[in-house]
Amino acid sequence: MPARILDGEAFASQIHLETASRVAALTKRGVTPRLVFIRVGEDPASRAYVSRKESRAKEVGISSTTLVLPETTSLPDLLRQIDTLNADPKVHGILIQSPLPQGLPNDQVYARVTPSKDVDGFHPVNFGKLLLGDPTGFLPCTPAGILEILRLGKIPTRGKHAVIVGRGQIVGRPLAVLLAQKSPHADCTVTLAHSSTPNLSSITRQADILVGALGRPLFLTKEHVQAGATVIDVGVNRVPDPASPRGYRLVGDVDFSSVQPVAGAITPNPGGVGPMTIALLLSNTVRAAEDASS
Ligand code: NAP
Repeated sequence: MPARILDGEAFASQIHLETASRVAALTKRGVTPRLVFIRVGEDPASRAYVSRKESRAKEVGISSTTLVLPETTSLPDLLRQIDTLNADPKVHGILIQSPLPQGLPNDQVYARVTPSKDVDGFHPVNFGKLLLGDPTGFLPCTPAGILEILRLGKIPTRGKHAVIVGRGQIVGRPLAVLLAQKSPHADCTVTLAHSSTPNLSSITRQADILVGALGRPLFLTKEHVQAGATVIDVGVNRVPDPASPRGYRLVGDVDFSSVQPVAGAITPNPGGVGPMTIALLLSNTVRAAEDASS
């Protein structure tokens, strides 16, 4: 039997409904949650991501604007813009869309956002709170979205072996911490694999939950998957496609057609992790507004 589809669009809609009702409660108290995106340069993928997030924000009642800065923006100018938003009490969340143009150091830029408005969960303070299990921090949206997929998809996690392929800063590493935490929707034994991991497929085949977060097109095939495993595809990779008007198409890290017949449950891509990342971003934004107005 082919794997059950873990429909990220449907799960995200459930979260958006809850978010919209929290927005309505805030609005009754005269508070409109406000999210500001900063986009530096005209990268077409970044434009598309920001506009998708903006339209979802509008749907749930969050007011959002995008500050578009030129590709040539200097670091001091960008930091000044962030400081202005940090100081504005009407702004509850700030998201700096990646990738930043070369020459702008990611770590320095993300660390400038005040932690209470860091709805992306990238600030070192929020990263530290994640490690400590302190619930007052903001969780990074993609790993938190994956936990929600497992919860809403009713995938058992306690005592299960989760193998994450990719130890990146925004997905693999924080996800490893979240899946290992002692809580009803985690409590996994976690293996974090990377490019120096020998015999990768012998490890991934031991996974009850296998997460592809490595950024390599269609890398994980049925050879990597234990029968019945849950497979989560995080990857967003461009591959050349002359038939597409854009000249490329987007594919995940998991070869869906090879893996679906073997797996027990699987996220589609697109339509799996991506919509959940946006849902968690908007939920974090509303929490920032709730915290600021309590
Ligand atoms: P990253 O920081 O570049 O990390 C990639 C990781 O994959 C590294 O740890 C790397 O190992 C590992 N890796 C690369 N090739 C490998 C191989 N052949 N075998 C085993 N491990 C390998 O990437 P990221 O930012 O975490 O993103 C990962 C993917 O998720 C990307 O495709 C990105 O676009 C996507 N993503 C999607 C969403 C979403 O909302 N859907 C959000 C964020 C990211 P080393 O550490 O040894 O180099």
